[in-house]
Amino acid sequence: MTTTATTSAADYLVARISELRRLRRAVILAHNYQLGEIQDLADFTGDSLELSRQAAATDAEVIVFCGVRFMAETAAVLSPNKVVLHPEPRAGCPLADMITAPELRALKAAHPGVPVVCYVNTSAEVKAESDYCCTSSNAVRVTDRAPGQEVIFVPDYNLGQWVQRHSQKHLLLWQGYCPTHDKITAEDIQRALRQHPDAEVIAHPECRPEVLDLAHQVLSTSGMIRRARETPAITIVVATELGIIHRLQKEAPAKCFVPASRRALCPNMKRITLEKVMWCLEDMSGLVSVPQEIAAAARTALDRMLETA
Ligand code: SF4
Repeated sequence: MTTTATTSAADYLVARISELRRLRRAVILAHNYQLGEIQDLADFTGDSLELSRQAAATDAEVIVFCGVRFMAETAAVLSPNKVVLHPEPRAGCPLADMITAPELRALKAAHPGVPVVCYVNTSAEVKAESDYCCTSSNAVRVTDRAPGQEVIFVPDYNLGQWVQRHSQKHLLLWQGYCPTHDKITAEDIQRALRQHPDAEVIAHPECRPEVLDLAHQVLSTSGMIRRARETPAITIVVATELGIIHRLQKEAPAKCFVPASRRALCPNMKRITLEKVMWCLEDMSGLVSVPQEIAAAARTALDRMLETA
């Protein structure tokens, strides 16, 4: 009885969201870390770079952004003429909150003339203070594009260290980190490899350096999806947020995906539920707006991110 009731409630929500999506001329974008039912409902699921491109290109009138706040803000900056709704405005990103615009201004003042590359996991205010924005999939290429030999790289220290290994530039790093990726340890990878000696390990560059050292491939979430389809390995140990497993299993159903750690769960990503998506489309609530002068300055950094493959 319980299973039937749960299923019919979910079916009702999905049907109602589909109806509202048509009525509002809305598109639903979801990050790869969202709950499985949100990913299944979305018109497009992807990583930050792919979702930014979708937000910039869509001809829908309304974008419902299922992710954390900085992602919805990015969509609002890239689509100034669209209505962008965030179903759970309290879903923030602790990594993005680890640097503020005044802190970045102070860093720039201490290193005059040094260009700033910010990870996309930042507020619009921080992007507005930056010269370039990047995602995990193009962080090295964006950093190498910046003029001069030194680059200020904020806020993720682990990603910054990984970029430093692959770039000719000298990076001045901020000490931010993702609490979810930080939970994955080298011991987790070693244990998984003892249990699955033939497995391939894929890791996200927000992981600690000692985890990346044990990985066969360091990839963005979209890179992981491509790799899962292409690798001859049957078992893949996945060192990133748990939500990606749903997507990987859909994209490569013949493979076996082993999470590196069951603790790598981002509570903010999981705040978006079917009910909240339905409510925001019903009420047109959760409107995301970025002040015009901040949006204009952030747009320059974001356009450079989108230009860099
Ligand atoms: Fe932020 Fe980490 Fe959660 Fe991504 S997984 S939204 S970086 S806290």
